[in-house]
Amino acid sequence: MGMQSIGRPTAPFAGGISDVETVSGSKGLMQREDLIFEVGDPDKTGVDLPAAKGTKNRLGGVTRKRGSGLPGLSEPEAVRHYMRLSQKNYAIDLGLFPLGSCTMKHNPRLNEKAARMPGFADIHPLQPQRTVQGALELIDELATWLKTLTGMPAVAMSPKAGAHGELCGMLAIRQALIARGEAETRKRVLVPASAHGTNPATAIQCGFIVDEIKANERGRVDMADLKSKLETTDDIAGIMLTNPNTCGLFETDIKEIADLIHAAGGYFYCDGANFNAIVGRVRPGDLGVDAMHINLHKTFSTPHGGGGPGSGPTVLSDALAPYAPVPYVVNEGDGFHLVEEAEGEAAEAFGRMVAFHGQMGMFVRALTYMLSHGADGLQQVAEDAVLNANYIQARLKSVMTPAFDGYFMHEALFSDAFTADGIETIDIAKAMLDEGYHPMTMYFPLVVHGAMLIEPTETESKQELDRFCDMLSVIAERAAQGDETLKGAPYLAPMKRLDETQAARKPVLKWVPPEPAAVAAE
Ligand SMILES: *Cc1c(COP(=O)(O)O)cnc(C)c1O
Repeated sequence: MGMQSIGRPTAPFAGGISDVETVSGSKGLMQREDLIFEVGDPDKTGVDLPAAKGTKNRLGGVTRKRGSGLPGLSEPEAVRHYMRLSQKNYAIDLGLFPLGSCTMKHNPRLNEKAARMPGFADIHPLQPQRTVQGALELIDELATWLKTLTGMPAVAMSPKAGAHGELCGMLAIRQALIARGEAETRKRVLVPASAHGTNPATAIQCGFIVDEIKANERGRVDMADLKSKLETTDDIAGIMLTNPNTCGLFETDIKEIADLIHAAGGYFYCDGANFNAIVGRVRPGDLGVDAMHINLHKTFSTPHGGGGPGSGPTVLSDALAPYAPVPYVVNEGDGFHLVEEAEGEAAEAFGRMVAFHGQMGMFVRALTYMLSHGADGLQQVAEDAVLNANYIQARLKSVMTPAFDGYFMHEALFSDAFTADGIETIDIAKAMLDEGYHPMTMYFPLVVHGAMLIEPTETESKQELDRFCDMLSVIAERAAQGDETLKGAPYLAPMKRLDETQAARKPVLKWVPPEPAAVAAE
């Protein structure tokens, strides 16, 4: 064989495509990596210690008879294993992360530095409270910022995610109804069709019945449908409404909606996951909200996805504040302490949601973010987030179909109307993988056909936005022309087009060692 055959794969891609040019210029440089059980060997170890001398086994009859079966690797093998795995992940530190509704913004390194300070990182929740006054003060100060930014009088800090915050707010509503003696009759919660799935799930979890409200042709709550749901009111517990909503639009009738719900004797739960679009500009308390969770891991830049735990503090109105869960921090002049029991001053609390006080590390990161931005900086966050989303919409609207007329808030939403017959949203998403991008949120919200929801956030530069738009507009044009090769994408990813239904229905979750006989035969 001559030199020619070396390093020259012929027709490496499915569908007979012999070479693939990408718009981004990125191409797969992916290392193969098997499971650690397959690359490791139980007899190998990363340390070389002299055999212990003069020690006696004191385990008696409980000594392990067989090896643990855990894989052994040398240090460089272990480092490479995890490095290679990390390269199979998409990350906000790698590129624009367009997932709509998720607010995948940059996590400032200053936050990380503050969270690692020993006074925050090395304390324990069971330490005497007088030894952690600084940590309690930080929780109290963060609570003050959250109340100020939302215009709400109270906040429950302990919920550990957005969905957990929803649970907190809806349990507070249920407790308020119990106090009114109406918990058995007021069961109906109105939820718009575009809502995040966690909203109806939370309502049902709390024993309510979900009644879906239609969206109008402008992507907002259909007021006629809402009013028809309020013809009888004595069974209304409340509404769960997202603002800006999951179509990326401000609910323009929100004040009237709040008034209608209150007149019906119900409470207004606002899903605040999209607070990034309005922080520093709109105070939900002024809109008549009774409870709203805030995703610190979205609006206030604490890492999420694979990067860390969430945190979902829930602000409460005067009507719901007495029912806030324990524990909470109070400052009584002589120092800070946690109110731990649902008795005395907290006798009306609906209970407790977590073992301790919440996600301390995320509290430190979120407050660092607020203090480093300042009030004017937080306002600019919202303005720039909205500007970036509308820039994307403006750049792509000639090749893709915006789902609604007019400007969006923090995310741009497109339908699949521009694609040729047979080409679907998923084909566009898979082609983005070849270009080195994580796809946008797909097929959500459900009210838009083949939805593509793109949220760039304020932390992307114009240059990054242009790079993303250049890439997506080429794919969109191919989709509009009915380019069949899109159906085979991704060509450059380590995994090609998967059977997603099978993967969801029959996931392989457990590694089984090969049969000894098979090993011997190899
Ligand atoms: C992210 C999100 C949630 C849920 O928040 P988690 O922290 O993932 O539990 C709820 N509603 C909306 C609109 C969201 O975007």
